[in-house]
Amino acid sequence: MNTVHFDGEILSCQNYISGSFVEASGQEFSIYSPYTGSIIAITKTSTIKDIAQAVASAKTAQIDWALRSLKDRSQVLFSFRHILLREIDAISNLVSLESGKTLAEAKAGILKGIEVLEFALSLQNLDTGGKMEVSREVFCEYRRRPLGVVAQITPFNFPAMVPMWTIPIALALGNAYLWKPSDKTPLTAGRIAQCLTEAGLPDGLLNIVNGGQETAQALIDHPDIAAIGFVGSTPVAKAVFQRGSQLGKRVLALGGAKNHILLLPDADLDMSGRGISDSFTGCAGQRCMAASVLLAIGDCDAHIETIKNRAASLKLGKDMGAIISAEHAAFLRSAVDEAEKSGAKVILDGRSIKAPSEYPGGYWFGPTILDHVPPESSAAKTELFGPLLSIVRCKNISEALAIENKSLFGNACSVFTASGPLAEKVVRRSKAAMIGINIGVPVPREPFSFGGCQASKFGHGDITGQSSLDFWSDLVKVTTKWETQNDETWMS
Ligand code: NAD
Repeated sequence: MNTVHFDGEILSCQNYISGSFVEASGQEFSIYSPYTGSIIAITKTSTIKDIAQAVASAKTAQIDWALRSLKDRSQVLFSFRHILLREIDAISNLVSLESGKTLAEAKAGILKGIEVLEFALSLQNLDTGGKMEVSREVFCEYRRRPLGVVAQITPFNFPAMVPMWTIPIALALGNAYLWKPSDKTPLTAGRIAQCLTEAGLPDGLLNIVNGGQETAQALIDHPDIAAIGFVGSTPVAKAVFQRGSQLGKRVLALGGAKNHILLLPDADLDMSGRGISDSFTGCAGQRCMAASVLLAIGDCDAHIETIKNRAASLKLGKDMGAIISAEHAAFLRSAVDEAEKSGAKVILDGRSIKAPSEYPGGYWFGPTILDHVPPESSAAKTELFGPLLSIVRCKNISEALAIENKSLFGNACSVFTASGPLAEKVVRRSKAAMIGINIGVPVPREPFSFGGCQASKFGHGDITGQSSLDFWSDLVKVTTKWETQNDETWMS
């Protein structure tokens, strides 16, 4: 399978509640494919009534699920892993069709989600509780208690991977999970839910409610939802965090990004050329870890030429995917126009690129490089979310770090250099939370956790890894004494 497949038949897209697809009761809305520019599915917005139905079913199912042992719950996740791998090509096609990713990117996202699933599977052997004798014959231990019904609101750009950051961990810990996928990419969700049901997940433990802002807000407000995970843009992440926190709920909201790469003239030409080009063009720049600003320190002209040549050689539809909507493609074009007006030089121009012959109706924008971008301009400071690299020329590493440090965001930062001490300087002085050395997309692999800081994250802890366990559960401390004899110890 080399091309994204769509046979033209409008796909079904409904809520998933208690193990069955059901129609929501709100307004109808359409889903468009970035590859075809046409409607691929029609669905309906979930109302307060639909959410109440989803929560009620989750609440009932969670009681028995929480009583099962972690080992027992993990058996379902083992089967889920097997089914996902069996279905990976079909799910990848769906991810690509609705989000615009290439098939290879869609598949890589599912495999990264499976890594988190494997982390969740390891908990049965690793999360031992740490029991110890704290006084003579008095023992303290940790036990995890699930929160009950939890919810996750996810963005368009990773319809499978981002939800897979949280589904396996939240379920393994004994919660029921309500999922509101992006209103732009809701199709993959239903397929994942079906895989979980086939794996043996009892009905009601994973429910899906479709819709946009209003559905998300109703979900946050529902009194029986104990915790909310969110991934999306910064303004929405902040609003979701505030709304949920005001209601006394646990909220972790990951936001947008503007990631910097510091490039030093001693960097390996091929390694930096590939790393930086692939970082800003991968997923057509629509990922929170994409390189966005290149801080070129000193004479990096040869490196920039290598980056440009690699980006220019990419074939749309095969090496680089489509833009999520016609509106966003138009926004990217206007952002380049504006950057030019502010003094930037367009050295690679993707504004008027031709659509690939296989996908003539889709939303396309080619790799674009802006050089000599003023550091205070919009192209250097705001998240544009497209295959667009803004190069800011810097005299030295201190100037580059000062620009990086001023950013409101704090997701990722990388440095390309042959010098260990200079790389270490960047690691110590950068403000970002995920840092790469000679790596363009410094996504931590399991068991290392994922999460930014500053305006890229609202709430504490990370969305995967060890701290996510504390997010999706309460840590209960049990102190036990069985010795009946009276003595002088402090806990007698
Ligand atoms: P978005 O913020 O527009 O939407 C995200 C989700 O929030 C969707 O499900 C949407 O329906 C819902 N939503 C929209 N408005 C809402 C509101 N007012 N209240 C509650 N919910 C609302 O984001 P997007 O365009 O789908 O995704 C792209 C953004 O996500 C980019 O900014 C990108 O950087 C960010 N992102 C961040 C990470 C990360 O790990 N930090 C990962 C992926 C994407």
